[in-house]
Amino acid sequence: MSDNAYKIIDHSYDTVVVGAGGSGLRATMGSAEAGLKTACITKVFPTRSHTVAAQGGIAASLGNMGPDHWTWHMFDTVKGSDWLGDQDAIEYLCREAPAAVYELEHAGVPFSRTSEGKIYQRPFGGMMQNMGEGPAAQRTCAAADRTGHAMLHALYQQSLKYDADFFIEYFAIDLIMEDGPDGPECRGVIAMCMEDGSIHRFRSHGVVLATGGYGRCYFSATSAHTCTGDGGGMVLRAGLPLQDMEFVQFHPTGIYGAGVLITEGARGEGGYLTNSEGERFMERYAPSAKDLASRDVVSRSMAAEIREGRGVGAEGDHIHLHLDHIDPAILAERLPGITETGKIFAGRDLTRQPLPVVPTVHYNMGGIPTNYHGEVVNPTNGNPDHVVPGLFAVGEAACVSVHGANRLGSNSLIDLVVFGRATGKRLAEKIKPGTAHRPLPKNSTDMSLGRLDHFRYAKGGTPTADIRLKMQKTMQKHAAVFRDNELLEAGKVELGKVYDSMSDIGVTDRSMIWNTDLIETMELDNLISQAMVTMHAAANRKESRGAHMQEDYPDRDDKNWMKHTTTTFDGWGGPDKARGAGEVKIDYRPVHEFTLTEEIEYIKPKKRVY
Ligand SMILES: Cc1cc2nc3c(=O)[nH]c(=O)nc-3n(C[C@H](O)[C@H](O)[C@H](O)COP(=O)(O)OP(=O)(O)OC[C@H]3O[C@@H](n4cnc5c(N)ncnc54)[C@H](O)[C@@H]3O)c2cc1C
Repeated sequence: MSDNAYKIIDHSYDTVVVGAGGSGLRATMGSAEAGLKTACITKVFPTRSHTVAAQGGIAASLGNMGPDHWTWHMFDTVKGSDWLGDQDAIEYLCREAPAAVYELEHAGVPFSRTSEGKIYQRPFGGMMQNMGEGPAAQRTCAAADRTGHAMLHALYQQSLKYDADFFIEYFAIDLIMEDGPDGPECRGVIAMCMEDGSIHRFRSHGVVLATGGYGRCYFSATSAHTCTGDGGGMVLRAGLPLQDMEFVQFHPTGIYGAGVLITEGARGEGGYLTNSEGERFMERYAPSAKDLASRDVVSRSMAAEIREGRGVGAEGDHIHLHLDHIDPAILAERLPGITETGKIFAGRDLTRQPLPVVPTVHYNMGGIPTNYHGEVVNPTNGNPDHVVPGLFAVGEAACVSVHGANRLGSNSLIDLVVFGRATGKRLAEKIKPGTAHRPLPKNSTDMSLGRLDHFRYAKGGTPTADIRLKMQKTMQKHAAVFRDNELLEAGKVELGKVYDSMSDIGVTDRSMIWNTDLIETMELDNLISQAMVTMHAAANRKESRGAHMQEDYPDRDDKNWMKHTTTTFDGWGGPDKARGAGEVKIDYRPVHEFTLTEEIEYIKPKKRVY
């Protein structure tokens, strides 16, 4: 290591949670409540996590606005996932959802109300009554169009009630891993305090990765600039696989040009899409659900309209969303944020004018594979469900997998709290408070500090921002809504070049005090490894399922492809703990074709129409 070696400050905890979004805070609360000595590390102040931006709502079959049942929610989620979701985990999610929403209500989330004072629920895409038969179910609980904001603030306030230590504006660099008798085990995590550059080594019996999605590997994304998939990057460097990374959700309604999200709740409240002929084209693609078909279906229909020359605007490259027929009083009450966003980012008064929208990257269905207790699984070990001791993942960083090939709107917020809680419970079962720590492996900081040092002193000729932009443009062009062999194969080559250019990266700031140049470089390194596995997994899957539309293989192929993809990456952390060749290895893991209890049978695959 060049310069002076880094001074290391040591900490010992029962549990360390990395991330303070909805999932991280819920897991932190659960762990601390169980008497475990708990730390929560976060690179942004907790209430600035991307969860704060969630608008439309959180799904649970409360049945406040019409008949509903958790089994209907389960059916819709399985169908939404295009049968790639694990049905035991989906059963757990839908069954636990109502209790999780009441828990939030009691924690102080100011939900919108019906006239009888019950929690208000709106329709959302793909949410139906009667095991998919319809009509639409009003299942999405909302606090106007600021549900995530309300939720995150309530969860943060609650988490302060418990005795957890928050390490705020600390950047987690890497996991501390050790080879155990049955494969890799997690022993802790290395982080850097961004304010003063001090290095912190956390020993922990349980590390929970709640680091959110990696949307920022695309050019146009609704997610925050902080959504760089750091947990996924750490897992790949630990030699563990990520799962189903080819499935990237495009939200139908990002504001054209700005990428800012207009919630699906806008269509839930009656909004509809039109093409250049003024036609409500969704009636052709999804005759029964229309504008409230699931997101992959709506995004694809919009992209098809644009491709066939029926887009709006000077370049015919976007679509109109109409809310101008809705009573302005209703808009002001239920979609106030959206009204404001339309004005600021599109210069439109949506009580009178349509909004220009285009499908925009929104959510990562893929991530760190876990079971429904939040335990990370490492299927490379012979057993597809082998648990990695000491390592957990929740939220968008994880792939439980409840969303499979396509997530239904409002099913992420519920995933955060249901599995955040489940993880807290599992930690409490597995860890006895105050258990002594074994000594750490001697090389516990080698990889993290070696990599930190490498980037801090990188003298190459290409700035981080240039490489990032190339990666984002390549992903946007080659791994978008429509994919085919030629695009994807070329994408592998182009992205490979971008990865290689990382060896010429140049960082100009060498200090350790608020070195955003260095932090953004480590974030880029996390992003590019996940961009690589996303592109390769997409090129590998020769079928169309959910968000992965492969035009050379337009049909779903259950016989050959009803399986999870797992990918490992030879980036940092190879045998010499240095930069690897960037090779992606692909393997598979069976989908759980069984439910959790006998109360519901396995929902058999059928054709997915809306
Ligand atoms: C604009 C928008 C609107 C949405 N609306 C809805 C909706 O209405 N309903 C719905 O169900 N879903 C919605 N989603 C999806 C949902 O909000 C997200 O999937 C979810 O909030 C992710 O939560 P999380 O806890 O996994 O992570 P995040 O909220 O993204 O938080 C990640 C946390 O990890 C920390 N972190 C990351 N890397 C590091 C590191 N290296 N070191 C330390 N800390 C780190 C961050 O500081 C942060 O605290 C929306 C998403 C977006 C982008």
